[in-house]
Amino acid sequence: MNNRIHILPEYIANQIAAGEVVQRPESVVKELVENSMDAGAEQISVVVRGSGKQLIHINDNGSGMSRDDLALSTKRHATSKIQTVQDLERIMTLGFRGEALASIGAVAHLEIRTRRQEDEIGWKLTAEPLKDDAIEPFKSEKGTQIFVRNLFFNVPARKKFLRSDLTEFRHISETMLKFSLARPDIRFTFYDADSLIFDVKPSTLEQRIVALMGERSASQLIPVEFTALLAKVSGFVGQPSMAKQSRSGQYFFLNGRAITNRALTHAVFFPFEHLLDKNSHPFFVLNIEIDAEKVDVNVHPQKHEVKFDDERMVYNTIQQAVAEALQRSNLVREAHFREQVAEAPFEKVQLSPSSTPNDILLVNRLTGEIINSSMQERQPAKVSENNPQSSSQSTSKTSHLSLEYKTSQKQTFGIAQQTAFDALFGTSTSIAQNHEPEKEQLFESPQVQMTVWQLHNKYVFVQTDKGVMVIDQHNAHERILYERALKAMNEQFANGQKLLFPVKVLLNSSEKALFDELSADLERLGFDITINDGIAEVRGVPLDVHAGEEEQALKEILSQYEEFQQIRHSDSRDNLAASFGCKAAIKTGQRLSESEMRKLVEDLFATSTPYVCPHGRPVVIDFPLGEFDRRFGRTS
Ligand code: ADP
Ligand code: MG
Repeated sequence: MNNRIHILPEYIANQIAAGEVVQRPESVVKELVENSMDAGAEQISVVVRGSGKQLIHINDNGSGMSRDDLALSTKRHATSKIQTVQDLERIMTLGFRGEALASIGAVAHLEIRTRRQEDEIGWKLTAEPLKDDAIEPFKSEKGTQIFVRNLFFNVPARKKFLRSDLTEFRHISETMLKFSLARPDIRFTFYDADSLIFDVKPSTLEQRIVALMGERSASQLIPVEFTALLAKVSGFVGQPSMAKQSRSGQYFFLNGRAITNRALTHAVFFPFEHLLDKNSHPFFVLNIEIDAEKVDVNVHPQKHEVKFDDERMVYNTIQQAVAEALQRSNLVREAHFREQVAEAPFEKVQLSPSSTPNDILLVNRLTGEIINSSMQERQPAKVSENNPQSSSQSTSKTSHLSLEYKTSQKQTFGIAQQTAFDALFGTSTSIAQNHEPEKEQLFESPQVQMTVWQLHNKYVFVQTDKGVMVIDQHNAHERILYERALKAMNEQFANGQKLLFPVKVLLNSSEKALFDELSADLERLGFDITINDGIAEVRGVPLDVHAGEEEQALKEILSQYEEFQQIRHSDSRDNLAASFGCKAAIKTGQRLSESEMRKLVEDLFATSTPYVCPHGRPVVIDFPLGEFDRRFGRTS
């Protein structure tokens, strides 16, 4: 019988192997630029022609190679970056597989020119599939220049598989963008044939982001800087206004290597959860630094993905880093209407070419009404409103307006501002049942009226000095209870109320285990519980737990705790306080009386971080008056 198995000729074996590393022009760019970075280059320029199919040319000022190294560099498994199996455990360079140049040489015409600083003369290598490499002396600058021509000329199947030029070019651009973000200390120059795509000089990461993403991003970047025991996270997240409907503005770098990882992306999204709708994706550039031994980068031929020893730890660190950044920047979600400034409401229509100014009609653009006369009356009113002193010149109608203006000014300005609460609402608030108190009364009363109003049993509106503030009632109460619970546990003040009739609660085994773990803190929180034969007898509950809700409160707090434990990385007391806050807080949908609303606002602004709930969600959104003015076409 004939034997059927044979060893493939090297030429074919190389082509197959190359398929793993070089899938498209972008892969070549990626491998070559990585080599330049590994060679310590401070300047890297990339030129592509025909979306990389005709030519990819890389020029760096890195270490260069000796003649012998150059000769070896294109051989399979030839690398200067690792030597032993131990090295594989601690990879500090971007490359290490020793495959890129060999693979590229198997599917294209490759030319390398290189010179080391210490060498007088450089060398040039030309490689072509099925031919021996040729090396000759060559006069060149310090560093390395690589030309890759006619990619896939000998692999028609692969060539056919490529997408349109535009798509291939976009892949290359995206990779160049990633490198530029990963290494702001390196100057990158990137050309598409003769047109310059970008040239970014060495700078800080922030400047680099602005250079690449545009000036507008400058005011929208929130710095992230967080060090945990085993990992460090730094970089920037974009304010919600920078979020996109696609994931294109999301960059993770792990020890300088661009990676993609869905779970970690979620870790960034989580603290943004209530700042963004589900289909928006926050912008971020985050560098994760972690001990090289704690991560395996050798799980993917193109090294886009890595495997962490402890992905949960990394997840938690990122989530905490972002939540902390949002909290630090006290991100109040400032609502902006669509970028549309109201047009002047009136159009001037000239009756005839020779008309005098008096013949010009003012027409309301919306209704078509001709409103000449009334307009003349209104104009001074507007002036006086902006400038109360001028009211003496106005008609009786406008003086009435300015009177109102002064009234409201008295209502909201001019009181010594001490606390955050005072700053927003003035010093004291009187609980008036009337939304529209008499004007006379306001003149007399030195007190400040806080106007509150509830929308759909969900949001509380409060008039402030600068506009209106919308408060999410559940998130706000959560923040209040969370701080109160933490205080009760840490400072051990009595926060419990005794029940007249103890309540029996049957705990399942996992609830029971959790209860045992947390019993001391639950007690500090205000619970008084004893367990007999697996049945919990609740004799007392925290003040904020309503009568009849004792069993539900206990069970929900335990299950919330468990849920948070998996996603939050915080100590158990903090977690318990957050669970308590979440479960005991007034719910969305609950109607509040005016005095309840006022109490809520007061309590909220007595907390340390009124703007964010314990999970980093926003509590307050400010609508500045200017936004309304803009919309209504007033110049404020
Ligand atoms: P790897 O990067 O995995 O080591 P490559 O095939 O990409 O494998 O490169 C092989 C070797 O060639 C590298 O280890 C390095 O020593 C050398 N080399 C490649 N590109 C450059 C460059 N731009 N400058 C200096 N040396 C380089
Ligand atoms: Mg390499």
